[in-house]
Amino acid sequence: MNFHEALGQVIEIARQNAERVDTEGVFPAEAVDALRGSGLLGLVMPEEVGGLGCGPVEFTEVVSELASACGSTAMIYLMHTAAAVVVADAPPPGMPDLLSGMAKGAVLGTLAFSEKGSRSHFWAPVSSASLNGGSVSVQADKSWVTSAGFADIYVVTAGSSSGTAGEVDLFAMPRDSAGLTVAGPWVGLGLRGNASAPMRIDSSIPIANRLGDQGAGFAMMMNTVLPWFNLGNAAVSLGLSAAANTAAISHVGSARLEHQDEALSALPTIRAQIARMGISLAAQRAFLAHAARSVSAPDESTMLNVLAVKASANDAALVITDTAMRVCGGAAFSKHLPIERAFRDARAGSVMAPTADVLYDFYGKAVSGLPLF
Ligand SMILES: Cc1cc2nc3c(=O)[nH]c(=O)nc-3n(C[C@H](O)[C@H](O)[C@H](O)COP(=O)(O)OP(=O)(O)OC[C@H]3O[C@@H](n4cnc5c(N)ncnc54)[C@H](O)[C@@H]3O)c2cc1C
Repeated sequence: MNFHEALGQVIEIARQNAERVDTEGVFPAEAVDALRGSGLLGLVMPEEVGGLGCGPVEFTEVVSELASACGSTAMIYLMHTAAAVVVADAPPPGMPDLLSGMAKGAVLGTLAFSEKGSRSHFWAPVSSASLNGGSVSVQADKSWVTSAGFADIYVVTAGSSSGTAGEVDLFAMPRDSAGLTVAGPWVGLGLRGNASAPMRIDSSIPIANRLGDQGAGFAMMMNTVLPWFNLGNAAVSLGLSAAANTAAISHVGSARLEHQDEALSALPTIRAQIARMGISLAAQRAFLAHAARSVSAPDESTMLNVLAVKASANDAALVITDTAMRVCGGAAFSKHLPIERAFRDARAGSVMAPTADVLYDFYGKAVSGLPLF
C-alpha cells in the first residue's frame, strides 16, 4: 500500500470520529491507532530506520488532508513529526530504539517546549537543568503539551545545565518517567481532542537521554524543529480552511430561498464572499507548496518562507473560516454544518508558538537586516 492509500484509510476513521472527539473533548484514539498502523508516523523518517523517506511536500499534503477531516488528529500528527525530526537529528544515545519506534508507529511523540514563565517564547525556557552525576535534574512547568498523557515520548526543553544564559538542553522523556505528570485538564475552544494539557517535570533525566550536546537545544529548535513545525502548522490551517470552504460552497449551492426560487449562491454578495474564500485558499495552497519545496531544497529565501508561511496561513484561516460562518448564516452557527468546528479549531494556529504576531516581527527584523533575537 502506498502512503496515499494509507492516508485515505486514516482520514476515513478520523472523519467518522471527528464530531464526537470535538463534542466530548476526547483524544482521537481510533484515528491515532490508525496512524500508528499506517506507516504515516514515519512519513518523513529515513527508510533505514523504518520510515517512508518522504519530504516536506508530502508532509504538508498529509497534514492538510488530515486537518480537513479532524483538526485534533492533524495537530497530534504534526507534534509527533516535529518531535521525530529532532530525534532523527540527534538521537539520544541512551535510547537506541527510539527513532525506529517513532518511525514505525510504536512510539507516539510530542514536544513539551512552552513554559508558564516564558509563555509563547519557547526559545527561552525559564526552567533550568543541573548536572547530578550521570543525570540531569530538571524542574519545569510546561504550559501546553499536545497529547499530554497519551504520547509515549516527550521531547522537553530546559535552560541548559551549562549554566550559560540563553543556552537550552533538549531531552527525551518516556511517558512513565518518574516526576513527569499531567498537571491539569485540557479544555480548549477548538482542537478539543488534542489533550494539550499542562505538564509538570520534577525529574532526574539520564544524560544519555539528551538530544545533542549540552547547550545545543536552541540551534536544534531553530534549524530542525521550526521549519517542520511551521510548515505543518500552516498545513493544519490550510486543511481547516479547505474544509470550511468546501462545506460553505455546498451549503450556499443547495440551501434555497423558496419564495424567490433560487439558492443562496444566487445572491451576488454571497458569491463575492465565496470567491474571496476560494482565491485566498488557492493563494495559501500555492505558498505552502512553495515553502515546502524551499525547505526541501534550501536557499537564501528559505528562512523567510519558513517565517512567513505559518503566519500567512494562520491568519488566512481566521478570515476564511469566519467568512464561511457568515455566508452560511444560522445553519453554520447552529452546528448543522461542520463549519463551526473548523472555525474554532482554526483559532489555535495564530496563537501557537511562534505566534503569528511574533513571526511578523521576526520577518520584519529579517528583511531589515536585524538579528531575530
Ligand atoms: C491547541 C494548542 C496546542 C498546543 N500544543 C503545544 C505543544 O504541544 N507543545 C508546546 O510546547 N506548546 C504548545 N502550545 C503552546 C503554544 O505553542 C503557545 O506557547 C501558547 O499558545 C501561547 O499562549 P500564551 O497565552 O502563553 O501567549 P502569550 O505569550 O501570552 O502571548 C499573548 C499575545 O502576545 C503576543 N506576543 C507575545 N510575544 C510577542 C512579541 N515578541 N511580539 C509580538 N507579539 C507578541 C502573542 O502573539 C499573543 O497574541 C499549544 C497551544 C495551543 C493553543
